[in-house]
Amino acid sequence: MSARQTTNTETRNGPLDRLARLRVSLAELGADALLVSHLPNVRYLCGFSGSAGLLLVAESKATLFTDSRYTFQAREEVVGAEVRIAKKGVLRALREALRRDRRRFRRLAYSASHVTVADKHSLEANGGGGIRWVQDGNLVEKLRAVKDARELATIRQAAILVSDVFCRTLRLIRPGVSELELAAEIEYGIKRGGGSGPSFETIVASGERSAWAHARPGSKLLSKSELVVLDQGAIIGGYCSDMTRTVCLGRASPRARDLYGAVLKAQQAAKQAIRPGVTAGDVDHAARASLKSSKLDRYFTHSTGHGLGLEVHEMPRLGKAEQTVLREGMVLTVEPGVYLEGFGGIRIEDDVVVTAQGSDDLTTAPRDLLEL
Ligand code: ZN
Ligand code: ZN
Repeated sequence: MSARQTTNTETRNGPLDRLARLRVSLAELGADALLVSHLPNVRYLCGFSGSAGLLLVAESKATLFTDSRYTFQAREEVVGAEVRIAKKGVLRALREALRRDRRRFRRLAYSASHVTVADKHSLEANGGGGIRWVQDGNLVEKLRAVKDARELATIRQAAILVSDVFCRTLRLIRPGVSELELAAEIEYGIKRGGGSGPSFETIVASGERSAWAHARPGSKLLSKSELVVLDQGAIIGGYCSDMTRTVCLGRASPRARDLYGAVLKAQQAAKQAIRPGVTAGDVDHAARASLKSSKLDRYFTHSTGHGLGLEVHEMPRLGKAEQTVLREGMVLTVEPGVYLEGFGGIRIEDDVVVTAQGSDDLTTAPRDLLEL
């Protein structure tokens, strides 16, 4: 470990602490080492943000395998792991390291969601056989679900940025403008505001198309009396925000107003259900029960929310009967919606952090129905 690593004050909640906690779980799993190939997990554990990297975490040391494009970047970013620049591919370098030390790496934990069959074959080729593969049980994803203070501050920044961009875009939402133009304005605003980019492809869906929960923006022009769903997120320092608002062009019809009120009520019910100790399924149930009381639950066709962090969708998922227990420091979206074919859709989505008593909103844009 270099002097830089041990004196870095950022490591109290950073990669070194994360690696230490990971090693405890690894020992419980009975594995000699963990192979980390999912890039957000690599970044979380050692700070490396490049697009090619494999991290091998053993009991006494961690090694990042990357290629020569990332020599300088890895030197700058990586904490708590030795960097090896692979000349002939990172998988091959890893295979050779495993083979050289095969007695230390007999039982290798891995994620079946991220290590492909081809990767496994490649690691076992040329005398690299004999690895006992152990499923990692989403060890890293579970650690990532609870954010530290620095992560929370960064997500809050991303949430405020996307809220501000949305509020500034409102003046452009009028009949005659296209969905694509609005999406472009939002993504431009995110970069202008200091974000590194959108955390997913911005959704702008108007009129009947607003009933498509995940519509791509198109060349369609907005027209009077339409509902417009805008779902957008920003990345700051690698961390994502994700917020949806639904607005109406001109005065909303009584039906649109009723639907909007019911979705907002369901969102409040879900937020009120959030506190440490409840399950993710309890929160989903609160939103669904609220919509049921307005006979709208059958139009709510997705889960109530998801975890948010280095990825825009991460653990836990706020879905039906999900058993994950919420803990202080988790960041979640709360996003009930109703989608009526031939009429339109309404979704209201905020990012919240689970606190000791309940939850706090991170996104700040107004939630009342805006008639533009
Ligand atoms: Zn969203
Ligand atoms: Zn979302």
